Amino acid sequence: MTKLAAAVVVLNNNTIPVAQKIISAVAGAQLYGLAGRTFGVDVSFSQFQVTLQELFTSGTPIVGICATGILIRTLAPLLANKQQEPPVVAVAEDGSAVVPLLGGLNGVNNLAQQIAAALGVKAAITTAGDIRFGISLANPPDGYRLSEGSDLKAFISDLLAGSTVRLEGHAPWLSNSSLPLTEDGQRVIQITEKQVISTQERLVYHPATIAIGVSTCGRKNCSHSLPIAGIQQMLVDAQLSPASVAGVFTSTADAANPAMTAIADSLGVPIRFFTAKELQKVMSQNNTADAAVGSALAATTGRLVMHRQFSDISCAIAIAPVPINLHTTGRPRGRLAIVGIGPGKKDWISPEVRDILSQATDVIGYSTYLDFIRPFIGNKKQHKFDNREEITRARTALDLAAEGRLAVLVSSGDPGIYAMAAAVFETLDQERKPEWESIEIYVAPGISAMQAAAAKIGAPLGHDFCAISLSDILKPWSVIEKRIHAAAEADFAIAFYNPVSKQRTWQLQQARNILLQYRRLDTTVVIARHVGREGESVKISTLEQLSPLDADMQTVIIVGSSHTRTVQQDNGNTWVYTPRRYIQQQL
Ligand code: SAH
Repeated sequence: MTKLAAAVVVLNNNTIPVAQKIISAVAGAQLYGLAGRTFGVDVSFSQFQVTLQELFTSGTPIVGICATGILIRTLAPLLANKQQEPPVVAVAEDGSAVVPLLGGLNGVNNLAQQIAAALGVKAAITTAGDIRFGISLANPPDGYRLSEGSDLKAFISDLLAGSTVRLEGHAPWLSNSSLPLTEDGQRVIQITEKQVISTQERLVYHPATIAIGVSTCGRKNCSHSLPIAGIQQMLVDAQLSPASVAGVFTSTADAANPAMTAIADSLGVPIRFFTAKELQKVMSQNNTADAAVGSALAATTGRLVMHRQFSDISCAIAIAPVPINLHTTGRPRGRLAIVGIGPGKKDWISPEVRDILSQATDVIGYSTYLDFIRPFIGNKKQHKFDNREEITRARTALDLAAEGRLAVLVSSGDPGIYAMAAAVFETLDQERKPEWESIEIYVAPGISAMQAAAAKIGAPLGHDFCAISLSDILKPWSVIEKRIHAAAEADFAIAFYNPVSKQRTWQLQQARNILLQYRRLDTTVVIARHVGREGESVKISTLEQLSPLDADMQTVIIVGSSHTRTVQQDNGNTWVYTPRRYIQQQL
């Protein structure tokens, strides 16, 4: 998934309110806090220098709520490449000053201004050009790209020294700025999708106005050799700059075809889809039966420039009068992430899952779990369900993703262990809705209850083990019985999930009776309730004493193998472990 939008770094708890304001203004930013001094942060770190240097090297924008000197001294050894440095902003502890420090070519002034606006102060912009002209020529707004090979430094120096500038083309952000614009300016800023060369006298911006429409025109089972070189040649022939290509556009009917995404990826631009209905309208208005032409025109409401057929794939180029807004044009490929949030404790949620949650448009899950992770969801759209409605939950998540959203389906523990990932694939397998074919599905693992329980008490799963759910809602009891016999006979340590519920109390007793046909009365048992949650208890017991009264719906029970042992330390700690080696006969 994509990179973190920014790391907002705090060194003590007093600065968290300022940090929260910044985070709410910078979508996708995460709170980094010094361990021991800060609480309730997204990422807790203990080594300031190492953490900051890692963030900087990985290109993550950094907002340090601390003195500028701290940031400068920490990052100084890494300041070799101006082109690549991410934005670094220092913010005063009380939010009264916002200072862009590094990353001038990567939007630090824009970030600083965004933060300053959220804090109700003025950013301390020190870049001469930006102050004088009220815009950053180095960081044009979305929809415009500075042409490669521009000598921006020389151009700005000339303007600061008194040169005037003529605008060729249309760009409100330039015409409304404080640039010294005149009809007969000595310098030129040109806005064009054409391939032109920048010089010291001429600065070129390419607007994102070009749409490339692609389609297989309903052909199935074709070779789909990618027409990348062909599309590039079309741009050359039309004298258009690839920097002006806003995206690749196609029909949802082609969404499942990997060739479409591969074309967009090879051109390094996003892909957007139009529904059959949206396309039909444009196609009939323009008298075309070709969905590539329809897609290019639907994206631009502009003029068709070129249309070519490359074996199975039809390609069209159209130009819009203004930059294409990808947020409102077509829909992105839908994504569904099925994530595991661990058994309950916030620290056991993986950074990947936090990252995915921060990017979600929709979060779907059992209401209790969504409440657990509320701090990570913020004000995203939530779809809460009852614990039992698993297939409805899966279907909802798939449908939301098919609409082009980033749907995140939340499971406790690991999503692939007695949880929602399997429910999604079952639904996909049985219902086979065509619109689900285009969804990108990703499963993010989590810590399962048995792992968390085992970790709390030592290493009872240290050797071969298996997991058995005692719930006979989705499988008959006869199957469960058979598996307990087999696991007991094979001497596995066994993690029992769903040991009891309000309706089901006899199963655990039955399981115990079966196990006792193979194992001793004093076999070690771990009863782990509410692990990582309020009211956690992890108790050591024996098979003899095991009773349904020990368990509830948030309990996992680990029954040791014949080798599982307890070890008592002199300091009073008792641990359970299953040795990795079978050195001798049963102990
Ligand atoms: N996907 C989950 C399991 C869901 S099935 C996972 O990987 O952990 C639900 C069962 O998981 C519960 O009946 C219980 O047996 C176990 N469980 C879930 N959370 C638990 C917790 N915090 N403590 C103990 N057991 C838990």
